[in-house]
Amino acid sequence: MENKTIAAISTPYGRGGIAVIRISGDNAVEIAGNVFVPGSKTPFSETESNRTVWGRIYYKEEQIDDGMAVIFRAPHSYTGEDTVEISCHGGIFITQKVLESTFLAGAVPAGPGEFTKHAFLNGKLGLSQAEAIIDLIDARNMEKVRLAGAGARGALKRAAEEIYVLLRDAVSTTYAYIDYPDEDLTDLTPEELLEKIGDAKRRLQKLERSYSVGRAVNEGIRCAIVGKPNTGKSSLLNALMGEDRAIVTDIAGTTRDVLEETVSIGRVMLRLSDTAGIHDTEDVVEKLGVERSLRALSDAELIMAVFDGSVPLGEEDFALAEHLRGAGCPVLAVVNKSDVSRAAEISSLGIDFTAECTVSARTGEGMDALREKIEELFLGGEIDYNTEGIVSNARQYAAVCAALEHISRAEEALSAGYTQDIAGMDIELALSALAEVDGRSVTGDVVETIFHNFCVGK
Ligand code: GDP
Repeated sequence: MENKTIAAISTPYGRGGIAVIRISGDNAVEIAGNVFVPGSKTPFSETESNRTVWGRIYYKEEQIDDGMAVIFRAPHSYTGEDTVEISCHGGIFITQKVLESTFLAGAVPAGPGEFTKHAFLNGKLGLSQAEAIIDLIDARNMEKVRLAGAGARGALKRAAEEIYVLLRDAVSTTYAYIDYPDEDLTDLTPEELLEKIGDAKRRLQKLERSYSVGRAVNEGIRCAIVGKPNTGKSSLLNALMGEDRAIVTDIAGTTRDVLEETVSIGRVMLRLSDTAGIHDTEDVVEKLGVERSLRALSDAELIMAVFDGSVPLGEEDFALAEHLRGAGCPVLAVVNKSDVSRAAEISSLGIDFTAECTVSARTGEGMDALREKIEELFLGGEIDYNTEGIVSNARQYAAVCAALEHISRAEEALSAGYTQDIAGMDIELALSALAEVDGRSVTGDVVETIFHNFCVGK
């Protein structure tokens, strides 16, 4: 990789107590030494690693500030390169000047995410860890902090690596067979090979399933809240969001012309489309005639159908029910206004709801149970994010699915009695798909293992 030294302001743009300018690359210490002069007699370049020192900060030979600096020497830094962090006063102008000063001394501006990219290129981080770090920065609830934190510490990387090692051993067996079919070189019998592949497949299936947790916590479950006007949809949404009631983001759909909002409901994130409709208490049933709303229903991974429990069900409720029949996702019947005596008979709708929750958006009654129901649907059971790798985005999921597909094919080939070299091609494809989870290359590793494990050249 190119050994340019990059610099950027690592704290957010704005006025604050302090700001941090980060410099990383071969010349980081030298460049920083031009900007920052320690108060002690020790020249900056001789400052001990990981020790914060006080000093004066210069711009074109004029002292503009004073602050602290720390050197992290390679490879013991985030990027794996020499890195210096200078803390100065957090004014927008002064911070910019300190950064400019590093440019004058030879640094170049870092692009978005470039420190983390360097960390990845230098083998300090796998791709899944880099992604988790971004998720951690974006986290707006504790569950996401836990999931992203575990990912950043390498939980998914480790899980993928374990499968990778299993498959690498399996594929080296098949290579030995290809190169020296007449010699009895393989360590594994076809049965043993099949067993290894079966083990890898089970682990991949577990990773594949873990994406439902990853989606629920990290990306958000697509949810439609439907019901006739005045059933209490917007009240319900507000009550559900509870204390941390901020609507998290507005996501303009790229493929769909629908505005989505992400809200955190307990430990689960929900992506709600058309919440504008909910807030305006527009007639959702009428809108069901509109293609867009129907699409939201058919796209949904969770539907909350809201009914006003205080009055008998009406025509519109039955019309809505028709659209819910045979939905391809869990449908919760949320019977609202439990603080008023019950008049609606939900069973008369003739729908097999996933669950019926009686709540009062007004008093909060039943809201915890509803929240728990949603958590149970998507995060059922105890999950230890630190020991189980959780697939938490579509890219990782695609890689895992591709690996699973190839490994299933290898398993079929072996079970059908084909020779190991046939299965070997599929195992190799599974390996390169799996390698995408953490972005490492395959071939070099595979070759290494053949020599290492089998001593073929002897
Ligand atoms: P939407 O049109 O479905 O979004 O319904 P709203 O949330 O605007 O609520 C319609 C009306 O029902 C409002 O007057 C709310 O105050 C009232 N409402 C909502 N939830 C409850 C509840 O749990 N109990 C009672 N008694 N009234 C409620």
